[in-house]
Amino acid sequence: MNYCPTCGSDAIEYRIPEGDHRSRAVCSDCNSIHYSNPLMVVGCLVVNDGKVLLARRGIEPRMGFWNLPCGFMENDETTEVGALREVLEETGLEVEIQHLHSVYSVVPANQVYLIYKAITDRTDYKLTPESTEINFFSPDEIPWDEIAFTANMHALKAFVENPESTNVHLGSHI
Ligand SMILES: [Zn+2]
Repeated sequence: MNYCPTCGSDAIEYRIPEGDHRSRAVCSDCNSIHYSNPLMVVGCLVVNDGKVLLARRGIEPRMGFWNLPCGFMENDETTEVGALREVLEETGLEVEIQHLHSVYSVVPANQVYLIYKAITDRTDYKLTPESTEINFFSPDEIPWDEIAFTANMHALKAFVENPESTNVHLGSHI
């Protein structure tokens, strides 16, 4: 951080505020403390007749790799609304959430993934600049060497091991 988002000053210093326990960006001019915390990534593992929906990424990072439809949660939405929005934006499909499927902390990236299991009977997905190829894969067709992110890999493995499980599958990359 170079400039204070509150007052525009460039007098940002990193120090432990009184009563806190770790270093923060503090503005020496207006005394605002600017916290940095993990971001939520929300999305869905969408199943149609035992097959799971994957989209090939048309954008960086990991362009060209396959991905569960997911993305950063926005302000003013719930995690479920965000997950459904990401599916719609990336595939054009409206789906129905069944339950929370997996929670995965990506500690080096300061991100937490919440992946819901969802169902649909539709296959009329639409390609977008974000998704250059979309397909439903049976468990033995999943392109394991071309999965974009460890959090998606975790959710897919849990699904393949027990497709009907309603447990929440916890995982992390530390
Ligand atoms: Zn300031």
